[in-house]
Amino acid sequence: MTEFDCQETKRHVHEFLHNELSVQELADITVHLANCDSCESDYDLENTINGTIEKHCTEMPPQELADNIMARIRAIQAGEAH
Ligand SMILES: [Zn+2]
Repeated sequence: MTEFDCQETKRHVHEFLHNELSVQELADITVHLANCDSCESDYDLENTINGTIEKHCTEMPPQELADNIMARIRAIQAGEAH
């Protein structure tokens, strides 16, 4: 997988806020935010996810999307996702 560094993440968060990212790209950013205190403090992770759910709710059930994101974060943190 592609790991975003902080600069890359901040650039993509801007696109994300304009709903221009795919769910996959969003997941990559979310993982970085979950693992990076610097970015997490810049972009409140919970608000970010909540906003994402609203934006993508027409494409995927919100709970399913949230589960998807959280499952991915947990897998990355456990070192199981590659
Ligand atoms: Zn970062």
